Amino acid sequence: YVRIAISFGLAALLLTLSCDNICNLNIEPNQISSVSLQLFINNEWQDAVSKRSFPTINPATGEVICQVAEADKADVDKAVKAAREAFRFGSPWRRMDASDRGLLLSRLADAIERDTAYLAELETLDNGKPYAVSYRVDVPMVVKCLRYCAGWADKWEGKTIPIDGDFFCYTRHEPIGVCGQIIPWNFPLLMQAWKLGPALATGNTVVMKVAEQTPLTALYVASLIKEVGFPPGVVNILPGMGPSAGSAIASHMDVDKVAFTGSTEVGHLIQQASGSSNLKKVTLELGGKSPNIIMSDANMAEAVEQSHFALFFNQGQCCCAGSRTYVQDTIYDEFMERSVERAKSRVVGDPFNMKTEQGPQVDEQQFKKILGYISSGKREGAKLMCGGGVAADRGYFIQPTIFGDVQDGMTIAREEIFGPVMQILKFKTLEEVVERANDTKYGLAAAVFTKDIDKAHYISSGIRAGTVWINCYNVFGAQAPFGGYKYSGNGRELGEYGLDNYTEVKTVTIKVPQKNS
Ligand code: NAD
Ligand code: MG
Repeated sequence: YVRIAISFGLAALLLTLSCDNICNLNIEPNQISSVSLQLFINNEWQDAVSKRSFPTINPATGEVICQVAEADKADVDKAVKAAREAFRFGSPWRRMDASDRGLLLSRLADAIERDTAYLAELETLDNGKPYAVSYRVDVPMVVKCLRYCAGWADKWEGKTIPIDGDFFCYTRHEPIGVCGQIIPWNFPLLMQAWKLGPALATGNTVVMKVAEQTPLTALYVASLIKEVGFPPGVVNILPGMGPSAGSAIASHMDVDKVAFTGSTEVGHLIQQASGSSNLKKVTLELGGKSPNIIMSDANMAEAVEQSHFALFFNQGQCCCAGSRTYVQDTIYDEFMERSVERAKSRVVGDPFNMKTEQGPQVDEQQFKKILGYISSGKREGAKLMCGGGVAADRGYFIQPTIFGDVQDGMTIAREEIFGPVMQILKFKTLEEVVERANDTKYGLAAAVFTKDIDKAHYISSGIRAGTVWINCYNVFGAQAPFGGYKYSGNGRELGEYGLDNYTEVKTVTIKVPQKNS
């Protein structure tokens, strides 16, 4: 049944996504959905001021899916005006009870859950990730994230503070204001939810620029935002390019905060743009080169499978990918042999086939960049253990690749590859591996596989990274914060800590008379 629904939906997508503005898509006989391909500003669908549009590509074939309106500075100005008006003191959004704000977020989660099949299909079409993953992982995590944030809306409390003197002092947790949000293409729906959930729960308004590679699902979610009843201007969604629309947000004088997820390189630009405009608050979730450490006492089968998942999940396109696998010398050969066997059995191909584990890379640029890293690995003397080439004659498929004998100084051990390329390195002692693991400009995540709790604690306290997994990998909960040390970013997303990053703290102090005058 699921397969029929998928092929039915896909055929409908291909048939209808070529029309200009609104596309009606039949996913299941009783469920008719639509995606608009314009900009979403003030709860209205609008063409770009420039009237320009750009193509979005199906990475499994390299073919154009449809054209999407392309926002630039003029559209960002319009969206910021709408978001500012929605944030005005006394506006419907500002006057809304916090519990009702939570209810809107809950309703958005419900609408997304209702349309899971459609959204998963659209995500797979635009991004290339396996449908089984979009359906079972991405969309359910979006729903959980929004529900978690919804619950916070009326529980985000300040404090009363016993200052000296005859005063009553308390804090109010207030929204920051108009928040610019710039998101990447590797988890288009999930990154949208991670940004919208905390911002809206705490009462901010949003101007979001979605990644040019994957604009479709965010636009569909925009229609759900309107459907469930968010007031106009609270959320504005702009597809567009980084150097035009993205940088217009980052340098805007009337944007109070910018939250960015993407490359460290662009993270620098965002921070600089804030510094040279209005000192807007900046949170950044950037790249990584995360160490995954396998001790000799680890459960071998688990360590091999989890390390495979740590690197190859999502076509290797994860900021927290376990891309430096450090294996203790005594188990190195066995771990290598079993990892190569696992990588060779990985099912690569049509992302709409339910057996597929790995789809195409997101676009030609990433595809070429990854092949470039594979060449550099060979050139610099790493040992190619499997893969290393293109996996299909069209689309952007790359073979699951493993390099052995990797040295810390090699380019593939230092730079973020963001593809299905695993680096395996050998180590002897615990002290040595912690030092080597920390010898990176990044600090997003790390993992250790061991049965020895002392070793697990030694490594989890010694590694400078925002997340440490022990005997597991890629475990996320909306309740737990995520973010980076060092070049991996500023601030945290999700959990209670994530709400802090969308909050101004106001101190209110009241004179308390000590006698009746
Ligand atoms: P990117 O940083 O260029 O893109 C991320 C987002 O930033 C997109 O929405 C993009 O349009 C926008 N952007 C680009 N230039 C901008 C600018 N000057 N001002 C404001 N916004 C701008 O990433 P990419 O080019 O798509 O990928 C390059 C590398 O970045 C990848 O190979 C990978 O290493 C890394 N990356 C990391 C993540 C992550 O989750 N941390 C996500 C995507 C890419
Ligand atoms: Mg695309």
